[in-house]
Amino acid sequence: MITKENPARTTEVVGVLPITGPAGVDAAVRRAEAARRDWSAHPITGRIAALRRGAAAIAGRAEELAVLLARESGKPLADCRGEIGFALAYLEWVCERAPDVLAEQVADDGAGRLVTRRRPYGVVACVTPWNAPVILTMTKLAPALAAGNTSVVKPSPLAPLTAGEVAAALPHVEVVHGGAETGQALVTHPLVRKVAFTGGDAAGRAIAAAAGAMLTPSVLELGGNDPAVLLPDFALTPDDYERLVMASFATSGQVCMAAKRLYVPRRRAGEFMEAYVAAAERILLVGDPLAPGVTMGPVISGEAAARVRELAWGRGMAVPLGRATGDLSAGYFVTPVLVAELADDDPLVVTEQFGPAVPLLVYDGEEEVVSRANASELGLGASVWSGDEERAFAVAGRLEAGFVFVNTHNRTGMSLRAPFGGVKRSGYGREYGEEGLLEYVQTAVTHAPAAFRPGGSGMSATAYPDRT
Ligand code: NAD
Repeated sequence: MITKENPARTTEVVGVLPITGPAGVDAAVRRAEAARRDWSAHPITGRIAALRRGAAAIAGRAEELAVLLARESGKPLADCRGEIGFALAYLEWVCERAPDVLAEQVADDGAGRLVTRRRPYGVVACVTPWNAPVILTMTKLAPALAAGNTSVVKPSPLAPLTAGEVAAALPHVEVVHGGAETGQALVTHPLVRKVAFTGGDAAGRAIAAAAGAMLTPSVLELGGNDPAVLLPDFALTPDDYERLVMASFATSGQVCMAAKRLYVPRRRAGEFMEAYVAAAERILLVGDPLAPGVTMGPVISGEAAARVRELAWGRGMAVPLGRATGDLSAGYFVTPVLVAELADDDPLVVTEQFGPAVPLLVYDGEEEVVSRANASELGLGASVWSGDEERAFAVAGRLEAGFVFVNTHNRTGMSLRAPFGGVKRSGYGREYGEEGLLEYVQTAVTHAPAAFRPGGSGMSATAYPDRT
């Protein structure tokens, strides 16, 4: 059984779910497989109408789902409402764009007749993390289902309830529950044709290896250690400072694309620190996720709390941030901190902290900061902050990251049309944008060369074509 506690009040049980064993996983994959031919044979307009009915059912329960998400994940209620709204906005974006992006393309000209189709894979296995469980389930299901795939989803046992409800509201989705064992049973199933995974490095490697052994293609969205680079001419208003604070501390820092390293020019470090601490005092209110005005809840588990405290304290100069409200002794609350005076090889700088502690690093020149920002195996996101947008874009082009934000960072910089994903060891494949739709189709062509069509000139049996 999975017994899901509320991380803000650990004696409160939010839900209990049975773990799906290998036979249950097999049955779920077989049901998805049995449904896929009919579903993919539907015209795309029919699939989209069914997805929109699912969206309406989710929207009708949005408030109840947001409260459930807050209680199981520890994320503030306003964030949970936003998460459900953003997931629905993405589903609608897919409904609008999929017919064009996935349309069959026909060329019938002097070179021959060429039809290019976008075929669904079949059963898509989705293995998702706990930190944005509704959005990260939707970024897989919406494009997969629109393209004519069916799916089996395995949410994280750390926040399985809301994602499971949202997934089950969509057509031809099976939901299985459990941890690594259930995940392995799913991704190694021979009837699974594509694996979509979001999560950490260790699970990502295990999933990629298991899928690779089956020759099942995968898309992997892994962790990040995003640098936020403030150029010497940065010109931040008080609102900008608040946005930068939340770029690191939203969801208690447990976001793949959080600003995880701050690089500030040495001569402006004092001024920066003062304005940053003042902004945190205004925007960062730590407390129960359901209490009004709270912007930061607990972390997800006792283990996560111990891990981030270990990373944050004992080296450098830790400056506690923000304010707190209510009794924080009942849950996994961690005081948010900015940590200055750390070496570049400090564990808080080189590892993905995935918690409410951010290092402040000073630099002297542009070459130096670009090289230090790029000195990571991870390359998910990054940001550049400058009063000069041209200069910011020029530096952004030198950063080794899949998504560079300018004058913002984290979710305030997202766009439904912009493909999101990592370079280096932050994964492969993309979510969002047209690339996020194309992730769930395979290209299949039918071709009649002009030479062999009725009335064609023919061609020697040993020749290569002379035109395309
Ligand atoms: P996790 O890797 O521990 O778990 C993710 C999922 O994988 C869960 O469903 C888990 O049960 C499953 N799993 C774990 N081990 C497995 C195995 N050996 N075989 C099969 N399945 C397995 O991650 P988490 O703690 O839920 O999420 C945090 C991580 O996710 C962070 O590193 C974060 O940066 C990353 N993340 C990345 C993105 C992105 O878009 N790139 C988004 C959100 C989170």
